[in-house]
Amino acid sequence: MFSFSTRHHALALIAGGAGVLLAPKARGDAAADATRYVQAIARLNDAHARAPGATTEEQLRARLPQDARAALQRLLGEKPSPAAAAALEQCAVAALDLDLIPDFESAHVRLQTFDAAAAAKLGSALSRPRFIVRAIGDFAPGYLGKFADLFTAILEAYDQVFGFAEFSKVPGKKLRVRLHLEPEIKQPPHFAPEFPWHSEIDFPVADRAAFRSPTPQGQMLFYGLCHELGHVIAMWGDQRTMEDHHSWAHYTGVTIVEHLTTQHKDSPLLEGLNDVRWRSLTAERKLPANAVPPSTQSAPGVMALLIALHDEVGPRGIGEAINFLDREGKSRRINRVRYYTFADFKRALTATAKDPAKKKAALDLFETKPGTKR
Ligand SMILES: [Zn+2]
Repeated sequence: MFSFSTRHHALALIAGGAGVLLAPKARGDAAADATRYVQAIARLNDAHARAPGATTEEQLRARLPQDARAALQRLLGEKPSPAAAAALEQCAVAALDLDLIPDFESAHVRLQTFDAAAAAKLGSALSRPRFIVRAIGDFAPGYLGKFADLFTAILEAYDQVFGFAEFSKVPGKKLRVRLHLEPEIKQPPHFAPEFPWHSEIDFPVADRAAFRSPTPQGQMLFYGLCHELGHVIAMWGDQRTMEDHHSWAHYTGVTIVEHLTTQHKDSPLLEGLNDVRWRSLTAERKLPANAVPPSTQSAPGVMALLIALHDEVGPRGIGEAINFLDREGKSRRINRVRYYTFADFKRALTATAKDPAKKKAALDLFETKPGTKR
């Protein structure tokens, strides 16, 4: 038998979702709908961060419950009000945490119709297979796409040169870049380790027309982008002791700048990017300051060590050692960010280097006594 009342009850159950028996109001509860949507995303991301397995962000976002999708749809139909504006803003930001770009865009478009300033503050977003770029500010048309092409090329260069298996501190989650247009660049770009579910690079720029480097003030943004990825991949020691004396990201940064510039010499991809004149592995080799024995005692010592390892086991060998430590899964994690030690790195090189002579040469580098000449 089918009666109206049982059918109505079934609908209420579906609309209410897990554990909630009352059907939400069709209109007027913007804050509750935003909470429903934001919390559903947080739950998926939290569970993924605890046990990432092999799940990709694309698979993860497909699991967003129907209940949360319906909440956003209701919110998009709300009449303009400060509460609805705040709710739309919250949902747009949350959508970016799960690579839900169409949701971000619908919330953005709806917000534009009744709070243009709030919509402008949200910026725009672009998703690519390995990352999401959010751009805040009045960027020239096409800026974001070109930036994304460059960032893709930088990641591919890292693949070719080092072959790191994982970039994000939470496996499966895309990287994030937060580009923001400022009147002038006062803070350098930085790897922001505080986000719970992904690795994010904060990147201020001042030229709305194009990503050019160095800037008229001499800031090397292209190198900066390559450098920050070095931090995303590996930190050293712990939060107090920077065991690499900040040479690791410098080493990977100059290596990638040189590789990309050589590889894409006459390509439009590298147009306006001239950092290689000042930032390259070739330049580092010639620096008098780096003419010290390899060691872990100082910035030049670590740089000399990394360059010597680059020559002995190759950058792929360095990448394999880091991948070995990740597979082992014993490295220190602070806020899920990977922190390695040079003692572990040496052990990983011992385990992964294939050629016995090269292995011995690489390990000898760690034993170089101060004062000996390479
Ligand atoms: Zn740095």
